[in-house]
Amino acid sequence: MADSIFTKIINGEIPAEKIYEDEHCIAINDISPQAPVHVLLIPKKAIEKLSDAEDGDQALLGHLMLAAGRVARQLGVADAFRLIINNGEGAGMTVHHLHMHIIAGGTLSEGKM
Ligand code: 5GP
Repeated sequence: MADSIFTKIINGEIPAEKIYEDEHCIAINDISPQAPVHVLLIPKKAIEKLSDAEDGDQALLGHLMLAAGRVARQLGVADAFRLIINNGEGAGMTVHHLHMHIIAGGTLSEGKM
């Protein structure tokens, strides 16, 4: 599999607004935000999509959920955010490297979240 754009960001080959990093993942601001807060949480391991994750990825997936909460606290949106994972092109996935969208700062009724 060729390196995804996210692997290039993780490797520092492409710039991004990084707001969080640990041993297993990074969080960056989305280049085309759909809400006041739109962050991408990306595992450093290049799993193509959630449905390709295996039993051995269990700890990593749990780590990502905890990291999502940590990033939300860091951004001051821990009381109201959404997590979205698009799995496959039919579901709107455009970058084939597992990632979570952390969306916040609007309301569902405003259509900003
Ligand atoms: P998907 O549609 O695959 O779930 O989400 C991919 C997201 O990555 C989109 O929201 C898109 O705006 C974002 N994105 C694509 N290329 C880049 C990039 O080079 N830098 C950043 N920060 N975000 C990107």
